[in-house]
Amino acid sequence: MTVLTTEPLMVETPTQLALREFHPFEASGARYVYLVPSAGIFQLDEPSGAILDVLAQGPRSDDEIVGALGQRFSEETLRDGLTELQQIRVIGDVGAPREQVVNDLPPEGFPLTTMVLNVTNKCNLACTYCYEYGEDKIVDTTCSDQPKFMADDTARDGVEFLLKESGPLKVAHLTFFGGETLLNFPVLQDTVAYARKRAEEEGKRIEFSLTTNATLLRPEIIEWLAENEIGVTVSIDGPKEVQDKMRVFHSGKGSYETVQPKIKELLRVHTSRPIGARVTLTRENLDIHRIYKHLHEEMGFWEVGFAPVTTAPDRDYEIQDEGYVRMLAQFGELARDWLEHAVENRHHGFSNIKDTLEEIHKGVSKAYPCGAGLGLMGVSTGGDVALCHRFAASDDHNFGTVADGIDRDKQREFLEEHHIKNKTDCHTCWARPICSGGCYHEANTRYGETQAPNLHFCTWVRSWTHTCLEIYGELSERNPSYLARFDA
Ligand code: SF4
Ligand code: SF4
Repeated sequence: MTVLTTEPLMVETPTQLALREFHPFEASGARYVYLVPSAGIFQLDEPSGAILDVLAQGPRSDDEIVGALGQRFSEETLRDGLTELQQIRVIGDVGAPREQVVNDLPPEGFPLTTMVLNVTNKCNLACTYCYEYGEDKIVDTTCSDQPKFMADDTARDGVEFLLKESGPLKVAHLTFFGGETLLNFPVLQDTVAYARKRAEEEGKRIEFSLTTNATLLRPEIIEWLAENEIGVTVSIDGPKEVQDKMRVFHSGKGSYETVQPKIKELLRVHTSRPIGARVTLTRENLDIHRIYKHLHEEMGFWEVGFAPVTTAPDRDYEIQDEGYVRMLAQFGELARDWLEHAVENRHHGFSNIKDTLEEIHKGVSKAYPCGAGLGLMGVSTGGDVALCHRFAASDDHNFGTVADGIDRDKQREFLEEHHIKNKTDCHTCWARPICSGGCYHEANTRYGETQAPNLHFCTWVRSWTHTCLEIYGELSERNPSYLARFDA
C-alpha cells in the first residue's frame, strides 16, 4: 500500500472491524482511496483491496478476514495489511464514532494574505449576468452611500491595513477589482507606487494583480502593467459570437471587436507575468472546447479558467442539469489533455484542473470553502472591509474599515457560524474536505444566506472531484516528480 498524503496513527486492534469513511477511485489500473475527513490519499495493494472487499459485506473480526482471504495471501501479509489500514483509518472499530471534521476554528489574528480593493463600482459594460446588474447583486450601487470611485487616501489606508494584517508574512497580495478597474487608473498607479515603497520600508513584498474587461486597455496602461509586473486576468467569454451574447456595452453593442486588438497588444507587450482569461459559463455558452481553443491557442492566453454563472434559480441563462452534464464531459476531456501534457512536463492552460489538483495534493481538509473573511478580504470603494470582493459594501457582511481595522468579534462570529461542523447537510458527503459547502456569495444569491451549503452544485462538485482524483492518481504513477510543482 502506498501512502500519497496524510499521517498514519497508532491503533489498538479492535474485535470487530468495519469500513470507515472514504471514497474509492481507480487510476492507471490501481485502486486508491480518498480518506474523509483527513483528505489523505492511499494506493491499495492487492491484499489491502481484498480486505476492503471483504469488509464491504459487513463488519468482521481480524481472524474472520484472515480466514476469508487465507488461500490468496499469507497470514503475515494480511495482518500487516490490517494494521496499516487501521493506522490510516480506512478501517476501524465497528463502534468508533464518525469523524466529521478535523479542523478547529482558526487562531485569532490569522494573517491576511490577499486583499481585494474594489477601486470602482462602475462598469462601462452591462453584461447580462453581472452581479452588479443582475438579481444576485448584494448592493444596489444606485442607492448605496459608497462612492463610485475609491479615493487615493482610502486605497493608501488599504495598503497600511494589508501590511499590518498580514502580520509575519513576508509576501502579501493586493488585487484590484471593480466594476471595471481601469476606470480608476490614476488610483491604481498611486496605490502600486505607494504600496511598493511602504512594503520595502516594512521589509515585505506585495504582489499585485488586477481583473479587467480589457475594453480600456491602451498602450501606456499596458506598459505600466508590464513594468510593474501586475498579474492580469481578463474577463472574456470566448470568440465573437459567444462574447457578444452577454458581454455588451450599455448600448447593447457586443464588446469583442473592441477587446480583441487590445488583448492582442496586452499579450504581446506584457510578458513579465502570465495573463489569464476568466470565462463565465451560461446555459447558452457551454462549448468549452471551442472557447478554450480560441482563448488559449488562437488568442494566446497562458491560462483559461471557467466558472458557471452565479444566479438566482430560473434565470434563462442559468445552467441546468443537462448543462452540467455537458460541462462535466468537456472538463473531463480537457483534464485528460492536461494530464498528457503534465506527463511530458509541458504546459497546458486549463486552470480549473490545476487548482483542484493543488488542493488535493496539499491534503487540506477544509473547514471553510475559501479564504473569505480569513486570509482574504474585500474592500469597498468607501473603505469598508468585507468578507470578499463580491460582498464589498454589503452592510451585512462587513468586518470593519481599512482605517479602523477588523472587528474581531464579528469575524469570530462569522467563522464560528460558517464552520463545516454547522453544515449538517455536508456531514455525510465525501467531497467535503475540498468543497466545504461552496462559495458564500453563491449561497447568498441562491438561498439568501451565506451559511447555506450550495446543494444545487453537489452532483457537479462530486463528479468533478472524482475526475480530479483519477487524474491525480494517474499523474502520481506516470510522472510523480510533476507533483512537486504543487508544493510551492
Ligand atoms: S455542498 Fe454538497 S458537495 Fe459540497 S460538501 Fe456540501 S454536500 Fe458535499
Ligand atoms: S465567497 Fe465566493 S466569491 Fe468570495 S472569495 Fe469565496 S469563493 Fe470567491
